[in-house]
Amino acid sequence: MDKVEVVIVGAGLAGLSAAYVLADAGVEVLVVERGDFPGSKNVSGGRLYLEPVRAYLPGLFDEAPFERQVVKERLTMLTSESSVTVELASDRFRSSPANSVTVLRARFDQWLAEKASEKGAFIIPGYKVDDVWMEEGRVAGIRSNEDILQADVVIAADGVLSFIAEKAGMRECHQPRNVALGVKEIIELPEKRIQDLFGLKAGEGATQLFFGSITEGMMGGGFLYTNQTSLSLGMVISIHDLMQKHPTISPHDLFELFKKRPEIEVLISGGHSVEYSAHDVPEGGLKSIPRLYAGGLLVAGDAAGLCLNQGITLRGMDMAIVSGVLAGRAVLDARQKKDYTAESLGIYEKYLKGSSIYQDLSTFQHMPEILSNPRLFEKYPEVASELLLEIFRVDAQPKQKISRTVLRTISRELLKVDVLRDLWHMRKI
Ligand SMILES: Cc1cc2nc3c(=O)[nH]c(=O)nc-3n(C[C@H](O)[C@H](O)[C@H](O)COP(=O)(O)OP(=O)(O)OC[C@H]3O[C@@H](n4cnc5c(N)ncnc54)[C@H](O)[C@@H]3O)c2cc1C
Repeated sequence: MDKVEVVIVGAGLAGLSAAYVLADAGVEVLVVERGDFPGSKNVSGGRLYLEPVRAYLPGLFDEAPFERQVVKERLTMLTSESSVTVELASDRFRSSPANSVTVLRARFDQWLAEKASEKGAFIIPGYKVDDVWMEEGRVAGIRSNEDILQADVVIAADGVLSFIAEKAGMRECHQPRNVALGVKEIIELPEKRIQDLFGLKAGEGATQLFFGSITEGMMGGGFLYTNQTSLSLGMVISIHDLMQKHPTISPHDLFELFKKRPEIEVLISGGHSVEYSAHDVPEGGLKSIPRLYAGGLLVAGDAAGLCLNQGITLRGMDMAIVSGVLAGRAVLDARQKKDYTAESLGIYEKYLKGSSIYQDLSTFQHMPEILSNPRLFEKYPEVASELLLEIFRVDAQPKQKISRTVLRTISRELLKVDVLRDLWHMRKI
């Protein structure tokens, strides 16, 4: 083959979703993936929100290999000696269809690849694209070593670092402020033990997010997701903060310290580590989204910076799927007109802007500034823990009224002006 209608670079969720839609419509589509198989290079904490994607691929996810349906959310603030956990368990999370599920990417991406192949997409693993191929000022294919593969349209779905988008001039090299580094381990445990640890029934899952002293004042936090017979445990830390605040600390060492916390040790003890991975996460939000289309080229998923860290949720997988589908639909429109110019493919941006994922990115566009506040990771967890320690403890001294304890602790621990300033900033989200 030296010419196909569409080449998709990257068999992640964005690329495979685009391939599924295009192949379903009878388009000749080729997905090239540098990994040994789809999902082999993909890292994710592992929670997929299904509501934003369901309507785009109706019925497809009914038989997907999900790990567990999330019915319990925990948020834990950590200081060097204490932890405060908020837990939300609700019957509403048990309703069908599920709001969110956990997935293991190596399994989930392969399944989606099979579905796209069944529709007629060709998927070639072990194929690394080096550059785009330009003709008459527009993208007209891809180059790998000396091979040139021509195409009417290339979809860059090659993940956060997207050399394709960069080489095609769609964006500059990433700024450290817009990227975080994630490390993740999959730790196998018996199914029943996972259920007992989190108070779950078979098929039910829990998530737990951690922030506070574990990141040494840097923006980021820890996560834990329950799979059927394993836990996905990891940490995500701002690369800017790593470079500026702690250039000598390695994320791997921080992660090892995190695993030694008593709150974690008890959950993973006896477990067997089966996978360790590290990957970047685009966290710049709306303001870091590059140009999304050019003549012969569309950019989707992480490659387009479509990821939202809201502090208590991290969403990239649903955004990858939705943008992949919309990129596919934009190609179908352009194909009908036999016009693959930037003007024609620009419909992709219109589709994206009309989607709920883009609206969420817009609503929470100030999230990166809000989350870069070090008080969130140092002071506030300390205040919460000090306050609760005072309220829960009973000493030989007479206790004060709770209202007095609250005011005293807050004014002792925080400069009032900081709280007011932070609340003022929070109005933006
Ligand atoms: C530690 C961590 C935790 C996360 N947790 C969550 C979470 O819980 N929930 C959530 O929704 N999101 C989460 N995310 C974000 C989510 O994983 C991503 O947003 C999502 O995977 C993006 O999908 P994608 O298809 O755009 O890119 P990817 O999944 O990165 O796929 C890109 C593909 O392109 C291939 N590729 C790259 N370059 C080339 C090339 N030159 N030639 C050929 N192939 C190439 C890669 O091998 C890869 O398969 C997390 C991310 C990390 C790192």
